[in-house]
Amino acid sequence: MSQLTVGKDVLSYCTKCKLNLGHTIVAMKDSKHIAKVKCNTCNTIQSFKDPSQSSKQNKTRTKKTSSAPSKVVSVSDLWMEKMSNTKKKSTPYAMDGKFTEGDIIDHVKFGPGIVEKVVDDKIEVIFRHEIKTLVHNKQ
Ligand SMILES: [Zn+2]
Repeated sequence: MSQLTVGKDVLSYCTKCKLNLGHTIVAMKDSKHIAKVKCNTCNTIQSFKDPSQSSKQNKTRTKKTSSAPSKVVSVSDLWMEKMSNTKKKSTPYAMDGKFTEGDIIDHVKFGPGIVEKVVDDKIEVIFRHEIKTLVHNKQ
């Protein structure tokens, strides 16, 4: 068995990502027991959760609950992510403007938003607090 020390990578259950993921040991209880780990994915420091132990419980349970896609991403998280991943300049929103997916618009009431989808003369826009469908390309 490989030695466990601070700085080593281990597999642990991340309570935030809700997955067994690679974690870095940040603290040891003793030479064989890990106290705290840091998720390599979300950087959350948490108690070590041995994935081989937690999976024992649902081993025999093949219950197929329609595992609703674990989308715990809120609109503002989505907005933040989209906004930080774009280099586009925002354009003031106007009904007669024509927008395409990924465009950043500036809405007088809702503020900056990113165009998620375009369906004919409608656009679905992610704003800071809500997703709105707006009209565009109005002749
Ligand atoms: Zn995580």
